[in-house]
Amino acid sequence: MNPILMTLLIVAALCLFTYSMAKRILPLTRMQPEVRWDRPMQRLKQMTAYAIGQKRFFHRFEFTHGLAHVLIFWGFLVVGINTIHLIGRGYAIHWSLPLLGDTFLALAYAALKDLFVILVMIGTLIALARRLFLRPARMTIGWEPNLILLWIFAMMALDTLYAGTLFIRYPDLYEIKAAFLGVWCRSLLIEAGWGNNPETVNMLYAIGYWGHVVMVLTFLNYLPYGKHFHVITSLPNVFFKALKPKGALAKQDLESEDAIYGVSQLEEMPFKRAVDMYTCTECGRCEANCPAHISEKPLSPKRLIMDLRNHLKKRTPDMCHVAIDTLKARIAGAKPAEETPEGEIVVGELVKDDVLWSCTTCGNCITNCPTLIEHVDHIVDMRRYLVQVEGRTPGELTPVFKNFENMSNPWGLASNARADWFESLGVKTPAENPDFEYLLYVGCAGSFDNRNKKVATTLVKLLQTANVNFACLGNDESCCGETVRRLGNEYLAQAMMEANVSLWKDTGVKKIITACPHCFNTFKNEYEQFGGDFTYIHHTEMIQALLGSGKLNPKPGLNGNGPVVYHDACYLGRYNNIFEAPRKILSRMQTALTDVVTPEREKRTSFCCGAGGGRMWMEEHIGERINKLRCDQLLETGARTLLTACPYCLIMLEDAIKDKEREDEIKVMDIAELVKTAITAP
Ligand code: SF4
Ligand code: SF4
Repeated sequence: MNPILMTLLIVAALCLFTYSMAKRILPLTRMQPEVRWDRPMQRLKQMTAYAIGQKRFFHRFEFTHGLAHVLIFWGFLVVGINTIHLIGRGYAIHWSLPLLGDTFLALAYAALKDLFVILVMIGTLIALARRLFLRPARMTIGWEPNLILLWIFAMMALDTLYAGTLFIRYPDLYEIKAAFLGVWCRSLLIEAGWGNNPETVNMLYAIGYWGHVVMVLTFLNYLPYGKHFHVITSLPNVFFKALKPKGALAKQDLESEDAIYGVSQLEEMPFKRAVDMYTCTECGRCEANCPAHISEKPLSPKRLIMDLRNHLKKRTPDMCHVAIDTLKARIAGAKPAEETPEGEIVVGELVKDDVLWSCTTCGNCITNCPTLIEHVDHIVDMRRYLVQVEGRTPGELTPVFKNFENMSNPWGLASNARADWFESLGVKTPAENPDFEYLLYVGCAGSFDNRNKKVATTLVKLLQTANVNFACLGNDESCCGETVRRLGNEYLAQAMMEANVSLWKDTGVKKIITACPHCFNTFKNEYEQFGGDFTYIHHTEMIQALLGSGKLNPKPGLNGNGPVVYHDACYLGRYNNIFEAPRKILSRMQTALTDVVTPEREKRTSFCCGAGGGRMWMEEHIGERINKLRCDQLLETGARTLLTACPYCLIMLEDAIKDKEREDEIKVMDIAELVKTAITAP
């Protein structure tokens, strides 16, 4: 080959690539710094599982398409080594990478590479056929992805042509013993008569070689400009993924002088948000599972990330300009001009308020995103800006915030009526029972909502039946702060959380039981930000333990209200992996139930009831009601009893049944109530 031409080509391609990458990376230096490289081993592990192992692509709903992507991705890794080989052999035909000389490893690699060339071609054809003929609604269908797929297919074809002609010209190459695809191509060319003509062989060899090299270098330089930039950014995006617990929102620093009270523009976002934007593949898995989008609200998590990315690209020239000036000033030892051009607020402009308020924070987008984009953090940070900087919220939230602030509950009911529900139950407070083992944290719904007061009463009776030594704070209990935090009122949330931790410490609390997944999630995953290092137990875990130890014994023979279906609450299941406790309770109850049926969306793929993220307290005028959609999904199973383990879900599902006027026929129960029914059954 022509080494001078090759050198010129590579140097030009690398210079161009460096320039393009600088354009993508420099804006990140104008965003907020954040430590995302602590615990490197844990990060490498998640990168291996999700980026290299492509864990999220083996999805039961879309296995074929996922497999096609996996084949292409793994093929890129394997065939990429061969591209280095190929370029090196442009200088010296017998050159090899270390360990890939005349070794067994070289033979293994040659066979593997050929296998992956075939698999990549199959993968691209599957993906192309899907895009052209099936056209799934969730995907952004455009010419670019189709062209890229054809491009990849052509690179594989040229690689094969190169290998076939290489083996005709250099039959002594060691890997010929294992490179079955190259050998097959060589035989094909010889049988066709082309392989016997040196001039034709040389021409095909040059086409295969230069065609492959030019296509690879062009592809590399195109990547930073299209959605396929994710080929480069998905690995760092997964590596930089937050290591905080799944259900935790980041604590905002409200004390420091430079405190940012919410995110309104790119410069206020942590740099990882830009990596999220670059990494979106536009696959639409988030959108296809988003209850807000499915129920025709204005929010699409995919659109949100794509809009922000387009904005980032639009802002790239000015952000790069300031970044370079800052760098120059630093090098010269001068004070950098920190200011950036004004006028690029995205909240309310590019990202409309309605979009942000539509989110239930259910986490389905995050769970389904193959590249681990953190949508909820984007949304809540922008809500924080709306609430704390602009004071702009849907009208119905104004009294709700006041209620939280003044009465520590969303209903605005007197905080000194919090303990009214347990007056006749013989529940003791810590002052009356100083040796209590567990604190039963009742929560606002259990204390003030009539339906959930019944659940709290049932739970108390179960604990009393099992002789559990517990206490309730009664009127000293306050809201956990979960809802106000997700509504963006971080200042109020932090005050509530700090007050709770302080009270619990003063009261000698060690273990806390709660029947509310929202309280449970915020305690377990967020209270450590405020020193709340207690043991937190959801009531399903507690009941399961009491059944397991024989302290609760369900009686056989109870015939329930027909088939039972269990609805996984987002904040119990998806965010906290509590899938087994309720199922074990149900299996223990099988003697008392006619049937347990399973919805299509369950466990990690469960569908939100519509109440999370503070949506419980907002009007739902646009599109379908989310609780109705979930209720329909549950009723499709033929169930007559809808079971849940969350006060919000209970309210939402019961409302949906009332709207259908089927409350005489369909029961909605908390799992504790079902257990209680079986325990007291004749
Ligand atoms: S958290 Fe739920 S509602 Fe919000 S964007 Fe994600 S999927 Fe949609
Ligand atoms: S955010 Fe994730 S799931 Fe959504 S379109 Fe982008 S890559 Fe796909």
